[in-house]
Amino acid sequence: MDKTFHIVTFGCQMNKLDSELLRAALEKNGMRPVRAPSDADVLIYNTCSVRQHAEDRVLSHLGGWRKRAEADSDFILGVVGCMAQRLGDEIRQQFPFVRLLCGTRSFLNVPEYIGKISSTGRAVTATGDRPIRIERDPAMRSEPHHAYVSIMRGCSNFCTYCIVPHVRGPERSRPETEIVDEVQRLTADGVAEVTLLGQNVNAYGRHKNHSDGAEGGLPRLLERVNAIENIKRVRFVTNHPKDMTEDILRSVADNEKVCEHLHMPIQSASDRVLKAMNRRYTRNHYLNTVEKARRIIPGIAVSSDFIVGFPGESDSDFEDTLALLRSVQFHQSYIFRYSPRPGTDAVQLADDVPDQVKRERQQALLAAQKQVDIRRRNGLVGETLEVMCHGHNTHRPEEGRLIGRSRRSDIVVFDGCNKGKINAGDTRHVTIEKATALTLFGRIG
Ligand code: SF4
Repeated sequence: MDKTFHIVTFGCQMNKLDSELLRAALEKNGMRPVRAPSDADVLIYNTCSVRQHAEDRVLSHLGGWRKRAEADSDFILGVVGCMAQRLGDEIRQQFPFVRLLCGTRSFLNVPEYIGKISSTGRAVTATGDRPIRIERDPAMRSEPHHAYVSIMRGCSNFCTYCIVPHVRGPERSRPETEIVDEVQRLTADGVAEVTLLGQNVNAYGRHKNHSDGAEGGLPRLLERVNAIENIKRVRFVTNHPKDMTEDILRSVADNEKVCEHLHMPIQSASDRVLKAMNRRYTRNHYLNTVEKARRIIPGIAVSSDFIVGFPGESDSDFEDTLALLRSVQFHQSYIFRYSPRPGTDAVQLADDVPDQVKRERQQALLAAQKQVDIRRRNGLVGETLEVMCHGHNTHRPEEGRLIGRSRRSDIVVFDGCNKGKINAGDTRHVTIEKATALTLFGRIG
């Protein structure tokens, strides 16, 4: 197809990966990417429904293309991903000039749909469940040394605030050999670090009827990826506390390339709120899991997400969460204010925490995490960390320094230009000399 295209991506790492896969599929069909959306014959929005704000932004973007879409019959405007799945009918009504609506479970068939639109002139809606086989082009990734690899899709947990299971469908694991083959091809193309992605990676290989070839679960997958010759680091996200097992923790400890970092969202430390969220673990279960992780993998970094202002969250529920954040000493915390998402179970509950209170609670958690960060990072001054170089520090290019990450995911800026050529993906031992709330600074050696 002799057409140009541009993809605008909203949302999580999974969506960014999906856009890379989609871009590869379009290029394979002869289409050419262009930098400016206005230069594209085909403009695709890869969308996110997790928060209202992201949806509102896409709707406002779509409105901005009305004039061109109505005047130019060759222009194809498409919406793919979560919003097409959740709001297909509304988008069709409000923006009849959108000519492609493609949900989360058939997005790699977009080249075929574009062909159909071009040849028939008719719009295409594809929000059903059509199995997709991922054919990864290893060169299609946003960083030279790092790649995301999806190991499973969908989620079967139905946390009451979350739209993901409704738009992405049930958990399905990819076969282990397919993933290993993909990582091997990525390393042959220069990738040194992979992040294995899924909404709930601890459940990899554990869902009935959707786990063919993945029966060894996450421990065996980590072991096989760890054994790939040129891979230097392996990460995996996101971990669900209810599905974290001792076997998984032991496989992190036993496989030297698997980084000592767990992103394991607790969301709230109140058992009452956790129950209302349908998280299916208690505060004590979470604390025991962290304690076990720290015993089995000494020095492991644990990070978390929090939602403040969930319906019914009292001052005392919130105080429990604040106290837990301080006592666990998280490596990082991502803190969100609750907002009801149509289609989820939590919309049945009164959104009874005033917005101002949600903001105050968010600020209080952010401030507490900042104190934890400063103390922890200051404690690293004088230590030597293994840092994987990502390239030059583009925030201050005039200083000629490099930037990278430690195994525990700390950002490290370091001097290295006089130590021979260092490429993205190379690792060096860096002695930390200074720390700020967000960054460590050091020198090689
Ligand atoms: S585990 Fe819960 S929060 Fe995470 S994607 Fe599934 S339903 Fe959403």
